[in-house]
Amino acid sequence: MKLVVMKFGGSSVANAEKIRHVAGRVIEKKKQGFQVVVVVSAPGDMTDDLIEMAAKVTRNPAPREMDMLLATGEQASIALLCMSLHAKGQAAISLTGPQAGIFADTDHTRARITQIQPKKVLAELAKRRIVVVAGFQGLNPNSDIATLGRGGSDLTAIALAAALKADLCEIYTDVEGVYTTDPRVVPDARKLEEISYDEMLELAGAGAQVMQGRSVEVAKKYGVVFAVRSTFSQAPGTRVHKEVRQMEDVVVSGIALDRKQAKISIVDIPDRPGVAARIFSALGKAGINVDMIIQSEASDKKNDISFTLSEGDVKKALSALRPVKKALEAKDLVANNNVGKIAVVGVGMRSHPGVASKMFQTLADAKINIQMISTSEIKISCVISRDHVDQAVRELHKAFGLDKK
Ligand code: ASP
Ligand code: MG
Repeated sequence: MKLVVMKFGGSSVANAEKIRHVAGRVIEKKKQGFQVVVVVSAPGDMTDDLIEMAAKVTRNPAPREMDMLLATGEQASIALLCMSLHAKGQAAISLTGPQAGIFADTDHTRARITQIQPKKVLAELAKRRIVVVAGFQGLNPNSDIATLGRGGSDLTAIALAAALKADLCEIYTDVEGVYTTDPRVVPDARKLEEISYDEMLELAGAGAQVMQGRSVEVAKKYGVVFAVRSTFSQAPGTRVHKEVRQMEDVVVSGIALDRKQAKISIVDIPDRPGVAARIFSALGKAGINVDMIIQSEASDKKNDISFTLSEGDVKKALSALRPVKKALEAKDLVANNNVGKIAVVGVGMRSHPGVASKMFQTLADAKINIQMISTSEIKISCVISRDHVDQAVRELHKAFGLDKK
């Protein structure tokens, strides 16, 4: 018998009506002859609400207790979904992450899955039951519950699909799949029929958050083919799999945007070994993720370093850098919050030259100034003023023919 793992996100189980709808979709699958394992997230914004509640109780919740709290959201979902399945006459059982044999490490609130022993899942499937597993949680070596980082239910689904050697893995959400760009910005954005793991990662990393990035990495590592599709429609969604030859014919698959970026510059720092190391180790110690970095050509034995980071980290970054600025006798330390990032992404770039020049020309024609540029094998990113992000995305979407199939 074929086995499917179906994962439903928080918005798909946000209320009783939606839970009943999900139960219906799950039963449909079962009737098609599949063995069905379902992974669910916490209802709606429950995880955020629980985090807020903890913050009201104490400024410093113990990570172990935080996990104990956060894991309850997914437990509410599995129980409610099973009740709905039962009410529709379908045999089903809910399992927590630990009961499903999902083991994790001790890094509370962002644990990694270490292994899966799905004995109980298989035994319950053999009883012809639908098995509903709580996403986002596992058991750590201290026998404590651990959560897998925000968005971790995706990871549960992918890892379970790998461990169970599922024939199909479907990630159900409130959008129809992965789009060429954000449809709120470009109404002509097209749903992609397929995309490679790497493109999906680059699109996600640049702000097109359809799925937790780590889960896509795990899918790539274990070769789990999955589909991103809508809970509320029968459309087939987007298939995500490893790169195949024909994909290269499509030069650019999508355009990502991220408005919540900021740029920090340190002006007039000495041009000698160890300076960059000093700056970025201070940022690293403060737990700040830096994205693009540029260093200017030195003149008079001085240069400038600028980098981008997410807007929310600016305050922390500035306080980490003030002592460094002083020690290096830099002239200035400035932050600019009015920036955004856009990126064109596509595996076809590897074999088709001219993508960068087309991107820059398109921005030039629209009189949009490029502040920073960075590239990877399958992505070219530019930092521009935030007010220009939407326009830039629209122009690029047209220039690369993404509106037409
Ligand atoms: N409920 C968790 C979160 O909101 C996990 C998930 O939704 O995947 O991050
Ligand atoms: Mg959630």
